[in-house]
Amino acid sequence: MNKKMQCPVCGGLVEKKNIKGKTFQWKWFSEVPVLSNYYLPVCSKCGEMFINPEAARSLDIFLKDSVLSATKEFLRKLKENSKLSQKELADDIGISEVYLSSLIGGKKVPSLSVFNLIKITAKNTALLDEMKTLKGRSSNYASKNSEMKKFKFLSTSEQETYSKESTFNNILCEEIIH
Ligand SMILES: [Zn+2]
Repeated sequence: MNKKMQCPVCGGLVEKKNIKGKTFQWKWFSEVPVLSNYYLPVCSKCGEMFINPEAARSLDIFLKDSVLSATKEFLRKLKENSKLSQKELADDIGISEVYLSSLIGGKKVPSLSVFNLIKITAKNTALLDEMKTLKGRSSNYASKNSEMKKFKFLSTSEQETYSKESTFNNILCEEIIH
């Protein structure tokens, strides 16, 4: 187990490295960061990671935790900044109060559309008011990247930024790591 291992890809030396801060695909989120210290065998030359089934299970737990904690953090900010009750907030986002409360409690993984909507409005609660005038909200307006263009109240550059899925996740990464 502790014997020096050679990388089957490039022949470089494989060493255990801390992967905290590295990002991975997890469910429908494309760049989810690992927020805890976790050591994996990594090739020091080509960077190939060697993930056995046990490590994959741990990684899955870490990534889920990153998504759940980001969701909780965005909702905490959103509640604090908007000063809305849970019921009003659920109505404004366009989701049920039960679903909102399970997200706040970290019991459910949000869909990408709901996640993105929560993230955008947590950064700018003024958008909540404008969203009230739109029908369907989360389901209609944030489910597909191209649909983001329908957020007419966003500036052109914001529309550009928010219509890229990877940008959402980069923003997530920056906000919860720093
Ligand atoms: Zn290698």
